Amino acid sequence: MKIHQIPLLRDNYGYLLVCEKTNQAAIVDPSEAEPVLRKLEQEKADLRAILNTHHHRDHTGGNEKLLAARRMDVYGHKSDGNRIPGLTHGVDQGDEVRIGELKGEVLFIPGHTTGHVAYLFGDALFCGDTLFTAGCGRLFEGTPEQMHASLSKIMALREDTKIYCGHEYTESNLRFALTLEPKNPKVVWRYERVQAQRARGAPTVPATLEEEKQTNPFLRWDSREIQASVKAAVPGQRMDPVSVFASVRRLKDAF
Ligand SMILES: [Zn+2]
Ligand SMILES: [Zn+2]
Repeated sequence: MKIHQIPLLRDNYGYLLVCEKTNQAAIVDPSEAEPVLRKLEQEKADLRAILNTHHHRDHTGGNEKLLAARRMDVYGHKSDGNRIPGLTHGVDQGDEVRIGELKGEVLFIPGHTTGHVAYLFGDALFCGDTLFTAGCGRLFEGTPEQMHASLSKIMALREDTKIYCGHEYTESNLRFALTLEPKNPKVVWRYERVQAQRARGAPTVPATLEEEKQTNPFLRWDSREIQASVKAAVPGQRMDPVSVFASVRRLKDAF
């Protein structure tokens, strides 16, 4: 499988997945159509499907224009038939997606929205706005319990899983991470590295799940330092994982 990372809008990423045997391709989260069409032209790939992680316009904004250019399958969660333009394949946890000879698996990961899914192709996870590199999505529609369960589902994948998320937010996410875990040397080091990458305009996505577990405050409800920071910031803080996660999310909302 070839993965082409396409910068879209201000800070979104779309991903063109190409089966190298058949040249069939799918686009994950086309925020807009033109850059995708240009990439297709360059690669001479045969676009067969749109894989939407969730209905937000910055992930589906290119659907109509791409569908006007050719007929394609459109995948998204089965509950989002009236929110994802052109949805043909409503999917759910455990469903399979085929692109040429590539096989992907659907993970149902609600929290950011109620119909959020991820697509796992081998060691590549396309997880939209649920898990970000060094961050996680806002809880627009779901509860902390749901998001905690969704993130835990991702954490159960192999450590070398690559996190291809929907936005380039790593640098500001790490600035927030440092407020909660200033003594975590891996966070300090990652922030320095990411600053240097951004200074030369390089993407910081993807990252491995292993690095996320070590540095992403939204996956670190077990960290003593995070627990202490949250306790200092939130009166009456409870220490169970969901409560710690919920407070980290609320603190980020106000950051
Ligand atoms: Zn979103
Ligand atoms: Zn988004």
